[in-house]
Amino acid sequence: MGILYSSTRNDEKKITASQAILKGLADDGGLFVPDHIPELTCSLRDLAGRTYQEVAYEVMRLFLTDFTEAELRSCIAQAYDSKFDTEVIAPIVEAEGTYYMELFHGATIAFKDMALSILPHLMITAAKKNQVKNEIVILTATSGDTGKAALAGFAGVEGTKIIVFYPKNGVSPIQEKQMVTQKGDNTLVVGIHGNFDDAQSGVKALFNDRKLAEEMAAAGLQFSSANSINIGRLIPQIVYYVYGYVKLLEEDKLAEGERMNVVVPTGNFGNILAAFYAKQMGVPIGKLICASNENKVLYDFFTTGKYDRNREFVLTSSPSMDILISSNLERLIYRITGEDAGKNAELMNSLLQTGVYEITEQMREQLGDFYGSFASEEETAVRIREMYENTGYILDTHTAVASAVYRKYVADTKDEAVTLIASTASPFKFTRNVMNAIDSNYNTMSDFELVDELSRIGNVDVPNAITEIRTAPVVHDIVCDKTEMKETVKKFLGVDA
Ligand SMILES: *Cc1c(COP(=O)(O)O)cnc(C)c1O
Repeated sequence: MGILYSSTRNDEKKITASQAILKGLADDGGLFVPDHIPELTCSLRDLAGRTYQEVAYEVMRLFLTDFTEAELRSCIAQAYDSKFDTEVIAPIVEAEGTYYMELFHGATIAFKDMALSILPHLMITAAKKNQVKNEIVILTATSGDTGKAALAGFAGVEGTKIIVFYPKNGVSPIQEKQMVTQKGDNTLVVGIHGNFDDAQSGVKALFNDRKLAEEMAAAGLQFSSANSINIGRLIPQIVYYVYGYVKLLEEDKLAEGERMNVVVPTGNFGNILAAFYAKQMGVPIGKLICASNENKVLYDFFTTGKYDRNREFVLTSSPSMDILISSNLERLIYRITGEDAGKNAELMNSLLQTGVYEITEQMREQLGDFYGSFASEEETAVRIREMYENTGYILDTHTAVASAVYRKYVADTKDEAVTLIASTASPFKFTRNVMNAIDSNYNTMSDFELVDELSRIGNVDVPNAITEIRTAPVVHDIVCDKTEMKETVKKFLGVDA
């Protein structure tokens, strides 16, 4: 049976997977969800020994039911290729008796590559299937990681263009350099005078601009989205939780059917939601441990049942988790309302109007799979140093939050089940904070000196993504005011003003 998708805020209208990928966000502002979560059709034991690409096919075909086998296999082959620096795509490293699944071996060394290397292929396939003749223009606002991963994914992809807006003074130097050196005629990177929220609101305004949409259509263009609310990003992320379990099974680290806990450093709630879906598909996952940094809105939610974004936004050393509105949580809320779109829409409206919503006792009872906690800046730094001193393994700041939270979980519950920690970024992407955590004397070195020192003390090669940007020329130097975003887009696209 084919799976259809509907909005979390109004589930009357059902559309196919390819249509949901093309649209990104539903017209009513809701997120697309599948009408049910399919069960895996082959046993995990049968998947042992298969490649990442083969496991990806077995998982994704169950969700993307309007894609043909040939289409899906071709998307997978083009995504998970030599852009990754290891054939296994997501290697697992054991440290202190826990398994770290390294999701940062793609082109931009953050886990966003796991989904953004396939999304462009899914999207152009979806466009063909639905007889979309227009060129697809991806519009993205980023605070750092998504922008570069989306650029790398869409650069040079025929039938697409990509425009990324980032806050000129709101990203790390390495993140900025990665973006402004992006090659490809179909790419545009623009810094804006303003913060991430300004970039995000500006992009939303462009999406909702009817007149612009008409002008675009006349020029054979249409907008789409590459951010984590697109179901085309969520589904590829389920794959590595299935794959992770299968690998541990293969290596006898797990017995068949044995429970495995999962720890995920969380911001927008996309990655951990994918683990939840993997559990629904039949992977024996025990607890889903949701790790937050000092922006601990999710910890508060799991412990009180109240979601409250009215608080100070903290800039931390794990910037990709600095977020107060975790968009993908909406998919979980929809589910625990008993798939009541009306009720979910009410809660989301309350979030929009007041910044707060509270779930019922009955809804809370369904969150038993989740455990939420957080790590302070100090705890995160200490964790990086301790791990390095104990094992020589160097964690990035986001993964260190997860590792610190995992320790709290074990101390709190005495649960010693086999545990897989999602390792979401290479330490080379957050070199300064990582090296300072190990030894504060490193503070005097330049960014690239720190890169070499990290490579030396951690005994790991400098990733290509870093080597590339050392000498790469800046090709994007446009900076505009937030009021000039529309003109900048029209100029790039050649749409008459
Ligand atoms: C995006 C990101 C996260 C958060 O993932 P979500 O799916 O948004 O919860 C964590 N770590 C890194 C390095 C990221 O880039």
